[in-house]
Amino acid sequence: MQAKEHKHIACGDVVEGCAWTASALTEEELLKKAVAHAEQAHNVKEVSPELAATVKAAIKTH
Ligand SMILES: [Zn+2]
Repeated sequence: MQAKEHKHIACGDVVEGCAWTASALTEEELLKKAVAHAEQAHNVKEVSPELAATVKAAIKTH
């Protein structure tokens, strides 16, 4: 039996020098985690379409 695929993101791919990473089973769940992290760690008040696209581009599926 194979392990389920999951989505993974490294904040360092978006924000240089940040060591935060997260994984989730769905892109939606991972984006929620990434947005929460951006708010807390990077003082992001609103996720712009550009930022959302950058974050989505940084998501890897394993
Ligand atoms: Zn970060």
